[in-house]
Amino acid sequence: MKNKFYFFAIAILLIIFLYFSYQIFVEVKPLQVVFLDVGQGDSILIQKGTQQILIDGGPSGKTELAKLGQYLPYFDDEIEIVIMTHPDKDHLAGLVEVARNYKIGKVLTTAAEKDTQVFKEWQDVLSYNKVETLEVWRGTEVKFNDVSMKIIGPPEKVDPLVGEGNDKSVVARLDYGENFFLFTGDIESPAEKEILEGGESIDVDILKVAHHGSKYSSSEAFLDTASPEDAIISVSKNNSYGHPTEAVLNALAKRNIEIFRTDEKEDIIFICKPSEKCKNQNVK
Ligand SMILES: [Zn+2]
Repeated sequence: MKNKFYFFAIAILLIIFLYFSYQIFVEVKPLQVVFLDVGQGDSILIQKGTQQILIDGGPSGKTELAKLGQYLPYFDDEIEIVIMTHPDKDHLAGLVEVARNYKIGKVLTTAAEKDTQVFKEWQDVLSYNKVETLEVWRGTEVKFNDVSMKIIGPPEKVDPLVGEGNDKSVVARLDYGENFFLFTGDIESPAEKEILEGGESIDVDILKVAHHGSKYSSSEAFLDTASPEDAIISVSKNNSYGHPTEAVLNALAKRNIEIFRTDEKEDIIFICKPSEKCKNQNVK
């Protein structure tokens, strides 16, 4: 009888302990922002405890799944928010596999369509899994815990037949305490100009350089206004596009902006607490 009592008491204490440990795990976990080295493409994982925002999925499903497996808690099979900036393969292909292997809470994207096999597969997997898809443009705001994400571009609803869609990429600013990130997809100078005129603040600490460092992006005015301390270029070694271009590297260096390249440093990891500046974790 006595033994039984002790058994139940211990079981209850254990349950209480596990419950509070889990709560603490979620709350005190710092925010982690990882620019995944996915080769020539973009994929950014924003994670706090068991909650994630994934921006784009890079060009390969296999690479993307391996990367997520490395960073997500092993018991976590759900990604709360996926942002698909635009339907080019180097941003979208990996997301198809993500949607096949993870539960996705919600997809934020524009209405831009592309007549490609990978885009068709993406649409099929979203409808098969009944994933909620939200069309976004400037002003949409997403919050989880103390993390907030604001959509800066495109300025308005996008025509599905936008064609060359780089300039209609979803651009988002992440606000976390005193830390600000700007994720720019593959926008080029016309979209940058429009964003500057649009009036939303893009004054940030960490900038994901637009379009892998293409010479058609990262205009002087855009860099001056964003005025980041750190800039991330997501790019593969010896790619056929000549990314990143000397012009962009020089423009960043001239402003004393520290450059982090995925072809040199592989995954680029920032750990953030709300009351202090994010810390880069790369040892390379
Ligand atoms: Zn791209």
